[in-house]
Amino acid sequence: MRFGIRTLDELDLGGKTVLCRVDINQPVDKTKGTLKSINRIRACVPTVRELSDKGARVVLLAHQGSDIEYKNFYTTKPHAAVLAELLGREVKWIDDVCGPAARAAIRALKDGEILLLDNVRFVAEEQTLFEMKLRLTHEQQAKTLLVEKLAPLADLYVCDAFAAAHRDQPSLCGFEQVLPSAMGRLFEKEYCTVSEVMEAPVRPCVFVLGGAKISDAFLMMQTVLSRGVADTILTGGLVGNIFLTALGREIGQGSVDFILKSNYGEYIDRAKELYAQYEKTIVLPADLAWVEDGRRREGLLGEVPQDIAAVDIGTRTAENYREIILAAGTVFVNGPMGVFEQAASEYGTKTVWQAIADTEGHTVLGGGDSITATEKYALGEKMDYICTGGGALIRFLSGEELPVVKALRHGSVIPQKGE
Ligand code: ADP
Ligand code: MG
Repeated sequence: MRFGIRTLDELDLGGKTVLCRVDINQPVDKTKGTLKSINRIRACVPTVRELSDKGARVVLLAHQGSDIEYKNFYTTKPHAAVLAELLGREVKWIDDVCGPAARAAIRALKDGEILLLDNVRFVAEEQTLFEMKLRLTHEQQAKTLLVEKLAPLADLYVCDAFAAAHRDQPSLCGFEQVLPSAMGRLFEKEYCTVSEVMEAPVRPCVFVLGGAKISDAFLMMQTVLSRGVADTILTGGLVGNIFLTALGREIGQGSVDFILKSNYGEYIDRAKELYAQYEKTIVLPADLAWVEDGRRREGLLGEVPQDIAAVDIGTRTAENYREIILAAGTVFVNGPMGVFEQAASEYGTKTVWQAIADTEGHTVLGGGDSITATEKYALGEKMDYICTGGGALIRFLSGEELPVVKALRHGSVIPQKGE
Protein backbone atom coordinates (compact mmCIF):
# COMPACT_ATOMS: atom_id res chain seq x y z
CA MET A 1 0.00 0.00 0.00
CA ARG A 2 1.17 3.49 -0.82
CA PHE A 3 -0.93 6.48 0.23
CA GLY A 4 -3.71 4.03 1.12
CA ILE A 5 -3.80 2.33 -2.29
CA ARG A 6 -2.68 -1.20 -3.25
CA THR A 7 0.14 -1.52 -5.76
CA LEU A 8 0.67 -4.36 -8.22
CA ASP A 9 3.06 -5.90 -5.67
CA GLU A 10 0.07 -6.79 -3.50
CA LEU A 11 -2.01 -8.50 -6.17
CA ASP A 12 -2.12 -12.23 -6.77
CA LEU A 13 -2.28 -12.10 -10.58
CA GLY A 14 -1.65 -15.60 -11.96
CA GLY A 15 -4.68 -16.85 -13.91
CA LYS A 16 -6.79 -13.87 -12.79
CA THR A 17 -8.92 -11.77 -15.11
CA VAL A 18 -7.91 -8.16 -14.58
CA LEU A 19 -9.82 -5.14 -15.84
CA CYS A 20 -7.17 -2.49 -16.36
CA ARG A 21 -8.19 1.10 -17.12
CA VAL A 22 -5.51 2.98 -19.04
CA ASP A 23 -5.38 6.50 -20.49
CA ILE A 24 -4.20 6.15 -24.07
CA ASN A 25 -6.23 9.06 -25.42
CA GLN A 26 -4.22 10.51 -28.32
CA PRO A 27 -4.79 12.97 -31.15
CA VAL A 28 -6.06 11.03 -34.19
CA ASP A 29 -6.01 11.44 -37.95
CA LYS A 30 -9.45 10.13 -38.85
CA THR A 31 -8.89 10.18 -42.61
CA LYS A 32 -5.87 7.90 -42.33
CA GLY A 33 -7.12 6.02 -39.26
CA THR A 34 -3.82 6.61 -37.46
CA LEU A 35 -2.59 8.23 -34.24
CA LYS A 36 -0.61 11.47 -34.36
CA SER A 37 1.18 10.73 -31.12
CA ILE A 38 1.76 7.58 -29.05
CA ASN A 39 3.26 8.99 -25.83
CA ARG A 40 0.48 7.83 -23.56
CA ILE A 41 0.42 4.34 -25.05
CA ARG A 42 4.14 4.09 -24.40
CA ALA A 43 3.63 5.22 -20.80
CA CYS A 44 1.25 2.37 -19.92
CA VAL A 45 3.43 -0.39 -21.38
CA PRO A 46 5.22 -1.31 -18.09
CA THR A 47 1.92 -2.02 -16.32
CA VAL A 48 0.42 -4.03 -19.19
CA ARG A 49 3.62 -6.01 -19.59
CA GLU A 50 3.85 -6.77 -15.87
CA LEU A 51 0.23 -7.94 -15.68
CA SER A 52 0.73 -10.19 -18.69
CA ASP A 53 4.12 -11.50 -17.47
CA LYS A 54 2.58 -12.46 -14.15
CA GLY A 55 -0.03 -14.57 -15.96
CA ALA A 56 -3.08 -12.33 -15.71
CA ARG A 57 -5.75 -12.29 -18.41
CA VAL A 58 -5.57 -8.60 -19.20
CA VAL A 59 -8.66 -6.67 -20.32
CA LEU A 60 -7.83 -3.07 -21.17
CA LEU A 61 -10.45 -0.33 -20.91
CA ALA A 62 -9.74 3.06 -22.47
CA HIS A 63 -11.40 6.16 -23.86
CA GLN A 64 -10.51 8.07 -27.01
CA GLY A 65 -11.71 11.68 -27.39
CA SER A 66 -15.16 12.81 -26.26
CA ASP A 67 -18.32 14.47 -27.46
CA ILE A 68 -16.74 17.81 -26.59
CA GLU A 69 -13.51 17.05 -28.36
CA TYR A 70 -15.28 15.38 -31.26
CA LYS A 71 -12.41 15.50 -33.73
CA ASN A 72 -10.68 12.89 -31.58
CA PHE A 73 -13.74 10.79 -30.74
CA TYR A 74 -12.76 7.51 -32.33
CA THR A 75 -12.33 3.77 -32.00
CA THR A 76 -9.40 2.30 -30.03
CA LYS A 77 -8.47 -0.04 -32.89
CA PRO A 78 -5.27 1.79 -33.93
CA HIS A 79 -4.14 1.82 -30.29
CA ALA A 80 -4.17 -1.98 -30.15
CA ALA A 81 -1.76 -2.19 -33.09
CA VAL A 82 0.59 0.40 -31.54
CA LEU A 83 0.49 -1.30 -28.15
CA ALA A 84 1.23 -4.70 -29.73
CA GLU A 85 4.22 -3.19 -31.50
CA LEU A 86 5.56 -1.58 -28.30
CA LEU A 87 5.02 -4.72 -26.23
CA GLY A 88 6.29 -7.09 -28.87
CA ARG A 89 3.36 -9.38 -28.23
CA GLU A 90 -0.18 -9.86 -29.50
CA VAL A 91 -2.91 -7.47 -28.37
CA LYS A 92 -6.41 -8.63 -29.26
CA TRP A 93 -9.06 -6.04 -30.03
CA ILE A 94 -12.83 -6.16 -30.34
CA ASP A 95 -15.33 -3.60 -31.64
CA ASP A 96 -17.49 -3.84 -28.56
CA VAL A 97 -17.25 -2.43 -25.04
CA CYS A 98 -19.46 -4.54 -22.78
CA GLY A 99 -21.93 -6.32 -25.06
CA PRO A 100 -22.10 -10.10 -25.74
CA ALA A 101 -19.13 -10.02 -28.17
CA ALA A 102 -16.85 -8.26 -25.67
CA ARG A 103 -17.89 -10.61 -22.89
CA ALA A 104 -17.26 -13.70 -25.05
CA ALA A 105 -13.82 -12.34 -25.95
CA ILE A 106 -13.02 -11.82 -22.26
CA ARG A 107 -14.12 -15.34 -21.38
CA ALA A 108 -11.94 -16.76 -24.16
CA LEU A 109 -8.73 -15.12 -22.84
CA LYS A 110 -5.90 -17.39 -21.70
CA ASP A 111 -3.30 -16.60 -19.03
CA GLY A 112 -1.02 -13.75 -20.11
CA GLU A 113 -3.19 -12.70 -23.07
CA ILE A 114 -4.18 -9.09 -23.64
CA LEU A 115 -7.47 -7.73 -25.00
CA LEU A 116 -8.27 -4.06 -25.66
CA LEU A 117 -11.97 -3.21 -25.70
CA ASP A 118 -13.40 -0.43 -27.84
CA ASN A 119 -13.76 3.19 -26.66
CA VAL A 120 -15.59 3.17 -23.29
CA ARG A 121 -17.09 6.55 -24.15
CA PHE A 122 -19.21 4.83 -26.81
CA VAL A 123 -21.29 3.83 -23.78
CA ALA A 124 -23.59 6.74 -22.88
CA GLU A 125 -23.11 6.52 -19.11
CA GLU A 126 -19.41 7.21 -19.52
CA GLN A 127 -19.78 10.47 -21.42
CA THR A 128 -18.23 13.66 -20.14
CA LEU A 129 -21.33 15.77 -20.75
CA PHE A 130 -23.40 13.26 -18.92
CA GLU A 131 -20.96 13.44 -16.06
CA MET A 132 -21.43 17.18 -15.82
CA LYS A 133 -25.21 17.22 -16.19
CA LEU A 134 -25.93 14.35 -13.86
CA ARG A 135 -23.37 13.36 -11.30
CA LEU A 136 -23.49 9.71 -10.30
CA THR A 137 -22.17 8.71 -6.90
CA HIS A 138 -19.59 5.95 -6.87
CA GLU A 139 -22.28 3.52 -5.65
CA GLN A 140 -24.49 4.52 -8.59
CA GLN A 141 -21.55 4.10 -10.96
CA ALA A 142 -21.27 0.51 -9.76
CA LYS A 143 -24.83 -0.03 -11.09
CA THR A 144 -24.12 1.20 -14.61
CA LEU A 145 -24.24 -1.10 -17.63
CA LEU A 146 -20.46 -1.15 -18.04
CA VAL A 147 -19.74 -2.23 -14.47
CA GLU A 148 -22.66 -4.64 -14.16
CA LYS A 149 -21.73 -6.43 -17.39
CA LEU A 150 -17.95 -6.59 -16.95
CA ALA A 151 -17.27 -6.84 -13.22
CA PRO A 152 -18.76 -10.36 -12.85
CA LEU A 153 -16.22 -11.62 -15.42
CA ALA A 154 -13.24 -10.18 -13.56
CA ASP A 155 -11.27 -10.92 -10.39
CA LEU A 156 -9.43 -7.63 -10.06
CA TYR A 157 -9.46 -3.99 -11.17
CA VAL A 158 -6.33 -1.97 -11.85
CA CYS A 159 -6.32 1.74 -12.68
CA ASP A 160 -3.27 3.08 -14.50
CA ALA A 161 -4.97 6.24 -15.78
CA PHE A 162 -3.64 9.03 -13.57
CA ALA A 163 -4.16 11.41 -16.50
CA ALA A 164 -7.91 10.83 -16.06
CA ALA A 165 -7.89 10.70 -12.23
CA HIS A 166 -9.99 13.88 -12.00
CA ARG A 167 -12.84 12.28 -13.98
CA ASP A 168 -15.77 10.85 -12.08
CA GLN A 169 -16.92 8.14 -14.49
CA PRO A 170 -17.93 4.46 -14.27
CA SER A 171 -14.84 3.01 -15.97
CA LEU A 172 -12.68 4.95 -13.50
CA CYS A 173 -14.62 4.94 -10.23
CA GLY A 174 -17.30 2.25 -10.54
CA PHE A 175 -15.32 -1.00 -10.52
CA GLU A 176 -13.56 -0.16 -7.24
CA GLN A 177 -16.91 -0.47 -5.50
CA VAL A 178 -17.19 -4.16 -6.31
CA LEU A 179 -13.72 -5.53 -7.19
CA PRO A 180 -10.46 -5.70 -5.21
CA SER A 181 -8.44 -2.88 -6.77
CA ALA A 182 -4.94 -1.48 -7.15
CA MET A 183 -3.11 1.26 -9.00
CA GLY A 184 -0.84 0.41 -11.94
CA ARG A 185 2.84 1.37 -12.16
CA LEU A 186 2.30 4.61 -14.07
CA PHE A 187 -0.42 5.75 -11.70
CA GLU A 188 1.78 4.82 -8.76
CA LYS A 189 4.73 6.79 -10.11
CA GLU A 190 2.70 9.85 -11.02
CA TYR A 191 0.48 9.98 -7.96
CA CYS A 192 3.21 9.24 -5.45
CA THR A 193 5.62 11.73 -7.04
CA VAL A 194 3.14 14.59 -6.87
CA SER A 195 1.98 13.57 -3.39
CA GLU A 196 5.55 13.75 -2.17
CA VAL A 197 6.03 17.18 -3.74
CA MET A 198 2.95 18.38 -1.90
CA GLU A 199 3.76 16.80 1.46
CA ALA A 200 7.50 17.20 1.81
CA PRO A 201 9.21 19.08 -1.01
CA VAL A 202 12.98 19.46 -0.85
CA ARG A 203 13.52 23.18 -0.10
CA PRO A 204 13.60 25.65 -1.60
CA CYS A 205 10.54 24.66 -3.61
CA VAL A 206 10.15 26.77 -6.73
CA PHE A 207 7.04 26.89 -8.94
CA VAL A 208 7.43 28.08 -12.51
CA LEU A 209 4.01 29.21 -13.69
CA GLY A 210 3.34 30.66 -17.13
CA GLY A 211 1.20 29.89 -20.13
CA ALA A 212 -2.34 30.90 -20.84
CA LYS A 213 -4.56 28.61 -18.73
CA ILE A 214 -5.15 31.26 -16.14
CA SER A 215 -7.93 29.65 -14.11
CA ASP A 216 -5.75 26.59 -13.42
CA ALA A 217 -2.75 28.70 -12.48
CA PHE A 218 -4.71 30.75 -9.96
CA LEU A 219 -6.44 27.77 -8.41
CA MET A 220 -3.09 26.10 -7.90
CA MET A 221 -1.26 29.20 -6.62
CA GLN A 222 -3.83 29.79 -3.92
CA THR A 223 -3.33 26.27 -2.55
CA VAL A 224 0.45 25.95 -2.77
CA LEU A 225 0.86 29.40 -1.21
CA SER A 226 -1.59 28.95 1.65
CA ARG A 227 -0.18 25.51 2.49
CA GLY A 228 3.38 26.78 2.43
CA VAL A 229 4.39 24.33 -0.31
CA ALA A 230 5.87 27.02 -2.59
CA ASP A 231 8.84 29.06 -1.38
CA THR A 232 9.02 30.97 -4.65
CA ILE A 233 6.67 31.34 -7.62
CA LEU A 234 8.30 32.55 -10.82
CA THR A 235 5.66 34.02 -13.10
CA GLY A 236 5.78 34.33 -16.88
CA GLY A 237 3.54 34.18 -19.93
CA LEU A 238 0.06 35.56 -19.48
CA VAL A 239 0.19 34.79 -15.74
CA GLY A 240 3.08 37.25 -15.35
CA ASN A 241 1.33 39.88 -17.45
CA ILE A 242 -1.78 39.65 -15.29
CA PHE A 243 0.21 40.21 -12.08
CA LEU A 244 2.05 43.16 -13.61
CA THR A 245 -1.26 44.68 -14.72
CA ALA A 246 -2.78 44.08 -11.28
CA LEU A 247 0.07 46.00 -9.65
CA GLY A 248 -0.29 48.88 -12.07
CA ARG A 249 3.10 48.28 -13.69
CA GLU A 250 3.34 49.73 -17.16
CA ILE A 251 3.30 46.87 -19.67
CA GLY A 252 1.57 48.58 -22.58
CA GLN A 253 -2.12 48.87 -23.37
CA GLY A 254 -1.78 46.13 -26.00
CA SER A 255 -0.88 43.60 -23.27
CA VAL A 256 -3.77 44.71 -21.08
CA ASP A 257 -6.21 44.57 -24.01
CA PHE A 258 -5.10 41.00 -24.70
CA ILE A 259 -5.90 40.00 -21.10
CA LEU A 260 -9.32 41.65 -21.26
CA LYS A 261 -10.08 40.23 -24.70
CA SER A 262 -9.27 36.73 -23.35
CA ASN A 263 -11.86 37.30 -20.60
CA TYR A 264 -9.24 37.16 -17.86
CA GLY A 265 -10.20 40.56 -16.44
CA GLU A 266 -11.52 39.01 -13.20
CA TYR A 267 -8.07 37.59 -12.47
CA ILE A 268 -6.54 41.05 -12.26
CA ASP A 269 -8.29 41.56 -8.91
CA ARG A 270 -7.41 38.04 -7.77
CA ALA A 271 -3.77 38.73 -8.62
CA LYS A 272 -3.84 41.95 -6.62
CA GLU A 273 -5.15 40.13 -3.52
CA LEU A 274 -2.74 37.25 -3.87
CA TYR A 275 0.26 39.52 -4.30
CA ALA A 276 -0.72 41.65 -1.30
CA GLN A 277 -0.65 38.50 0.84
CA TYR A 278 2.38 36.73 -0.66
CA GLU A 279 4.54 39.55 -1.99
CA LYS A 280 7.78 37.88 -0.88
CA THR A 281 6.99 34.59 -2.63
CA ILE A 282 5.64 35.75 -6.00
CA VAL A 283 8.34 36.93 -8.40
CA LEU A 284 7.30 39.05 -11.38
CA PRO A 285 9.11 39.74 -14.65
CA ALA A 286 11.34 42.84 -14.56
CA ASP A 287 11.55 43.09 -18.32
CA LEU A 288 9.49 41.85 -21.26
CA ALA A 289 9.81 41.08 -24.95
CA TRP A 290 7.54 41.82 -27.87
CA VAL A 291 7.67 41.32 -31.63
CA GLU A 292 7.86 44.20 -34.09
CA ASP A 293 8.13 43.57 -37.86
CA GLY A 294 8.82 39.93 -37.10
CA ARG A 295 11.82 40.78 -34.88
CA ARG A 296 12.29 40.41 -31.15
CA ARG A 297 12.42 43.62 -29.09
CA GLU A 298 12.98 43.89 -25.37
CA GLY A 299 12.63 46.51 -22.74
CA LEU A 300 12.03 47.22 -19.08
CA LEU A 301 8.48 47.62 -17.85
CA GLY A 302 7.33 50.95 -19.22
CA GLU A 303 9.18 50.45 -22.48
CA VAL A 304 6.69 48.08 -24.12
CA PRO A 305 4.94 50.01 -26.94
CA GLN A 306 1.30 50.84 -26.23
CA ASP A 307 -0.16 49.06 -29.23
CA ILE A 308 1.72 45.73 -28.94
CA ALA A 309 1.23 42.82 -26.51
CA ALA A 310 4.23 41.45 -24.61
CA VAL A 311 4.73 37.81 -25.58
CA ASP A 312 7.80 36.74 -23.59
CA ILE A 313 9.83 37.54 -20.50
CA GLY A 314 12.98 39.58 -21.16
CA THR A 315 16.64 38.51 -20.93
CA ARG A 316 17.19 39.94 -17.41
CA THR A 317 14.16 38.13 -16.06
CA ALA A 318 15.18 34.88 -17.76
CA GLU A 319 18.69 35.17 -16.25
CA ASN A 320 17.27 35.84 -12.79
CA TYR A 321 14.86 32.89 -13.06
CA ARG A 322 17.73 30.70 -14.21
CA GLU A 323 19.73 31.45 -11.04
CA ILE A 324 16.74 30.76 -8.79
CA ILE A 325 15.99 27.46 -10.55
CA LEU A 326 19.60 26.30 -10.37
CA ALA A 327 19.56 26.83 -6.57
CA ALA A 328 16.23 25.06 -6.04
CA GLY A 329 15.62 21.75 -4.23
CA THR A 330 12.35 21.13 -6.07
CA VAL A 331 11.05 22.73 -9.25
CA PHE A 332 7.47 22.34 -10.34
CA VAL A 333 6.69 23.60 -13.85
CA ASN A 334 3.41 24.37 -15.60
CA GLY A 335 3.09 26.76 -18.52
CA PRO A 336 5.73 28.32 -20.84
CA MET A 337 7.26 31.76 -20.26
CA GLY A 338 6.11 33.11 -23.62
CA VAL A 339 4.82 32.25 -27.07
CA PHE A 340 7.65 29.75 -27.51
CA GLU A 341 6.11 28.39 -30.72
CA GLN A 342 7.62 31.39 -32.56
CA ALA A 343 11.35 32.00 -32.79
CA ALA A 344 11.12 35.69 -31.84
CA SER A 345 9.38 34.93 -28.55
CA GLU A 346 10.98 31.64 -27.44
CA TYR A 347 14.06 32.97 -25.63
CA GLY A 348 12.47 33.10 -22.16
CA THR A 349 11.03 29.59 -22.32
CA LYS A 350 14.17 28.14 -23.87
CA THR A 351 16.44 29.65 -21.19
CA VAL A 352 14.21 28.72 -18.28
CA TRP A 353 13.67 25.19 -19.62
CA GLN A 354 17.42 24.71 -20.00
CA ALA A 355 17.84 25.76 -16.34
CA ILE A 356 15.15 23.28 -15.29
CA ALA A 357 17.09 20.57 -17.14
CA ASP A 358 20.39 21.65 -15.54
CA THR A 359 19.32 22.11 -11.91
CA GLU A 360 20.28 19.58 -9.25
CA GLY A 361 16.79 20.02 -7.79
CA HIS A 362 14.02 17.50 -8.30
CA THR A 363 11.96 18.58 -11.33
CA VAL A 364 8.30 17.86 -12.06
CA LEU A 365 6.79 19.18 -15.28
CA GLY A 366 3.20 18.97 -16.50
CA GLY A 367 0.88 20.50 -19.12
CA GLY A 368 0.48 19.82 -22.84
CA ASP A 369 2.34 22.87 -24.12
CA SER A 370 5.01 22.62 -21.44
CA ILE A 371 5.70 19.09 -22.64
CA THR A 372 5.75 20.30 -26.26
CA ALA A 373 8.39 22.89 -25.28
CA THR A 374 10.42 20.17 -23.56
CA GLU A 375 10.30 18.10 -26.74
CA LYS A 376 11.17 21.11 -28.89
CA TYR A 377 14.37 21.68 -26.89
CA ALA A 378 15.06 17.93 -26.58
CA LEU A 379 15.25 18.13 -22.75
CA GLY A 380 12.90 15.27 -21.89
CA GLU A 381 15.69 13.01 -20.67
CA LYS A 382 16.89 15.66 -18.23
CA MET A 383 13.60 16.25 -16.46
CA ASP A 384 13.12 13.99 -13.45
CA TYR A 385 9.49 13.57 -14.03
CA ILE A 386 7.09 14.55 -16.83
CA CYS A 387 3.49 14.09 -15.80
CA THR A 388 1.18 12.73 -18.52
CA GLY A 389 -1.87 13.98 -16.66
CA GLY A 390 -2.03 17.77 -16.88
CA GLY A 391 -5.63 18.19 -15.71
CA ALA A 392 -5.35 15.66 -12.88
CA LEU A 393 -2.06 17.17 -11.75
CA ILE A 394 -3.44 20.72 -11.58
CA ARG A 395 -6.50 19.59 -9.65
CA PHE A 396 -4.39 17.59 -7.27
CA LEU A 397 -2.11 20.57 -6.64
CA SER A 398 -5.21 22.69 -6.13
CA GLY A 399 -6.02 20.56 -3.11
CA GLU A 400 -8.99 18.68 -4.59
CA GLU A 401 -9.45 15.04 -3.70
CA LEU A 402 -9.26 13.20 -7.01
CA PRO A 403 -12.34 10.96 -7.55
CA VAL A 404 -10.24 8.04 -8.79
CA VAL A 405 -7.93 8.23 -5.76
CA LYS A 406 -10.96 8.12 -3.49
CA ALA A 407 -12.40 5.13 -5.40
CA LEU A 408 -9.06 3.28 -5.42
CA ARG A 409 -8.78 3.65 -1.64
CA HIS A 410 -12.21 2.04 -1.40
CA GLY A 411 -11.26 -0.83 -3.75
CA SER A 412 -7.94 -1.35 -1.97
CA VAL A 413 -9.65 -2.69 1.14
CA ILE A 414 -11.90 -5.14 -0.72
CA PRO A 415 -10.18 -8.50 -0.05
CA GLN A 416 -8.89 -10.66 -2.92
CA LYS A 417 -10.02 -14.26 -3.13
CA GLY A 418 -8.22 -16.22 -0.42
CA GLU A 419 -7.07 -13.06 1.37
P1 ADP B 1 0.27 24.06 -20.62
O1 ADP B 1 -0.39 23.40 -21.81
O2 ADP B 1 1.70 23.70 -20.48
O3 ADP B 1 -0.53 23.86 -19.37
P2 ADP B 1 -0.97 26.56 -21.25
O4 ADP B 1 -1.93 25.84 -22.12
O5 ADP B 1 -1.49 27.19 -20.01
O6 ADP B 1 0.28 25.63 -20.89
O7 ADP B 1 -0.30 27.75 -22.09
C1 ADP B 1 0.44 27.54 -23.26
C2 ADP B 1 0.20 28.61 -24.28
O8 ADP B 1 0.38 29.90 -23.74
C3 ADP B 1 1.18 28.52 -25.44
O9 ADP B 1 0.48 28.21 -26.61
C4 ADP B 1 1.83 29.90 -25.51
O10 ADP B 1 1.96 30.37 -26.83
C5 ADP B 1 0.85 30.76 -24.75
N1 ADP B 1 1.49 31.93 -24.14
C6 ADP B 1 2.58 31.98 -23.37
N2 ADP B 1 2.90 33.23 -23.02
C7 ADP B 1 1.97 34.03 -23.57
C8 ADP B 1 1.74 35.44 -23.58
N3 ADP B 1 2.54 36.28 -22.93
N4 ADP B 1 0.69 35.90 -24.28
C9 ADP B 1 -0.14 35.05 -24.93
N5 ADP B 1 0.01 33.70 -24.96
C10 ADP B 1 1.06 33.20 -24.29
MG1 MG C 1 -2.03 23.95 -23.04
